[in-house]
Amino acid sequence: MRRRHFLATLVAAGAAVTLVAGPQVSKATAESNQLYIYRVSAATDSAAQRLVNEGFDVLENRSGTSLFVLGDDATATKLKAAGFAPAIAERLKPTGWQPPSTRLVPDAATPAAAPAAAPIDETYYGGYHTVRAQYAHLDKVAADRPNLATVVDYGDSYLKTRDPATGYDLKALCLTRKQSGDCALTPSARKPRFLLMTQIHAREIVTGDISWRFIDHLANGYGANAQVTALLDSTEVWVVPIVNPDGVDLVQQGGNRPYLQRKNLNGIGCANPPTSTSQPGVDLNRNTSTRWGTSGVSSSQCSQTYPGAGPDSEPETRAIERLFRQLYADQRGPNDSDAAPATTRGAMISIHSYAGMNLFPWGWSTKHSANDAALRVMAAQMSQYNGYRYGQPGEILYNASGTSDDWSYGELGIASFTIEVASCGSFTPAYSCTSTDFAKNLPALMYVAGKAKAPYQP
Ligand SMILES: [Zn+2]
Repeated sequence: MRRRHFLATLVAAGAAVTLVAGPQVSKATAESNQLYIYRVSAATDSAAQRLVNEGFDVLENRSGTSLFVLGDDATATKLKAAGFAPAIAERLKPTGWQPPSTRLVPDAATPAAAPAAAPIDETYYGGYHTVRAQYAHLDKVAADRPNLATVVDYGDSYLKTRDPATGYDLKALCLTRKQSGDCALTPSARKPRFLLMTQIHAREIVTGDISWRFIDHLANGYGANAQVTALLDSTEVWVVPIVNPDGVDLVQQGGNRPYLQRKNLNGIGCANPPTSTSQPGVDLNRNTSTRWGTSGVSSSQCSQTYPGAGPDSEPETRAIERLFRQLYADQRGPNDSDAAPATTRGAMISIHSYAGMNLFPWGWSTKHSANDAALRVMAAQMSQYNGYRYGQPGEILYNASGTSDDWSYGELGIASFTIEVASCGSFTPAYSCTSTDFAKNLPALMYVAGKAKAPYQP
């Protein structure tokens, strides 16, 4: 019923998205609408902002003075008309993977869905775990290791807020050697906290499975691996594997074919079939109240960086901000120039793809935060582990406002980072790349988690 309701919701809302799955459809779409990644010279932030403002799908990658734009032949024409000189950097393979064969209840369109895989085994595109599999995984870890793991339902996705029969719960896992009072939703917790969040951008598919592997590394390593044991004895590790489950649901079904859904699903009615500059939803990593709507955003509601109707307008944004406020005390003053004190506890990482970068606040400006020195030292250490470049977004990528890490640092003072994993240099890497990216980034995750007790002290 989930899928039928999901489709019905889209249709009822005037959906302009094609969700029909099948080899004929994907083949035809792929042939008639070849996608490219264009390399575009944008040496200055004003050029980057102009690309975004004009609604182009600017990817999270930079090479020297070049940025990268996803699109088709029409996109190249528009780029030229806007004064840019696009060069083809990559011709993308069709992304028409088949949707998972199982459903909560097989619907009329897929009567032969049985035998159903167990929910935890449900995958797409060669192994990527679906939302349902991710949630089954959280439940299994908590059931297998009740002394270590607790599942928390922290809210509802946009679709679920509209109709409880659709959409998803929003779920987190708390991992620690549990003692009385641990994993409680109060900022006065005994242990410091580290939070990892992934797949806020649905199409950054490698990131959710990094959370999966991180959870297994911790849950299976307790008592066997000294570093893991020490971490879970002293710290609460929170993992939100899928920040944007509605968007991931669409991605795992193969949509928004031939593009891939980045945003949540609030706001449907963009062009059908979708184009690179016409995608439904709100960019959840532009939607927070920190300098909302000021940089790296497009006011066009069908662009990939549409920040929403207002700050914190989206249920997914409000829910994760509420979770953060339940986990961390506000330890920083309200002014841009206020420093979080040396006694600050708490750290977070949000993982995106696919540049190979360790980023830290501020993202809305190249102005340094008052904790810049300590954040920069931590980012440099992360780079020692994963080999990525490090800096503020405006220093090595482009400015962006309303992001998760600007919000968690700005509102609460906790040490906050975005890792753009390298994703094997691919927009849609093969599943085997999750092993590569996890291995490369695990030491950086363990390092920042280990600093949660006092991130601004040497
Ligand atoms: Zn992203």
